[in-house]
Amino acid sequence: MIIEHTLVLLKPDTIQRSIIGKIVTKFEDAGLKIVAMKMLWASEDQVERHYPFDELWAKQVYEKTKKVYEESGKKFEYKDHVEHGQTIRKWLMDFLREGPILAIVLEGPHSVEIVRKMVGSTEPRQAAPGTLRGDFAVVESYALADAKKRPLRNLIHASDTVENAKREIAVWFDNKEIQKYTKELDTHF
Ligand code: ADP
Repeated sequence: MIIEHTLVLLKPDTIQRSIIGKIVTKFEDAGLKIVAMKMLWASEDQVERHYPFDELWAKQVYEKTKKVYEESGKKFEYKDHVEHGQTIRKWLMDFLREGPILAIVLEGPHSVEIVRKMVGSTEPRQAAPGTLRGDFAVVESYALADAKKRPLRNLIHASDTVENAKREIAVWFDNKEIQKYTKELDTHF
């Protein structure tokens, strides 16, 4: 099925920066359909379920971070992806509960891939101009986050696969909260 649902979370830093409207407008401008949206203060249980500890994820996060450290000639202190992943996960869970967040479900053909592309690289410093992180959060880096012992303040979470999107949407929304409606653009798909 080409028409997909994807989950976007506007993290507490987006709300603090007063740029909810600018970001939501970008998704609408791109032709994505908003089928659910709510502001909420995440519970402990929701963040636990949203960020399950996953060894593959920990390996990817470790490799991405290590590469950037080594490219800038710095020593990456963590030896082990499990210890590193657990640290990042704890920071992330605390951060997501620092203030209200906006949870959004977007619908559209290939929406998972397209939204990830629009959001840009995990590390805002590397994120290309034109991407949401590159335009709105670029002065943020692994080195800065690490020195401050906090997660990257990169504004947005977006599902990375169709399977994860399904799992993540169920963390934040009941099925009945996902609206079904048609727009003129739908006739093109
Ligand atoms: P993405 O959000 O781009 O899918 P990941 O799944 O790799 O990125 O990581 C999830 C989130 O964890 C990131 O958005 C970021 O906020 C945080 N994060 C990842 N790696 C690090 C790191 N090395 N230091 C601090 N925060 C990190």
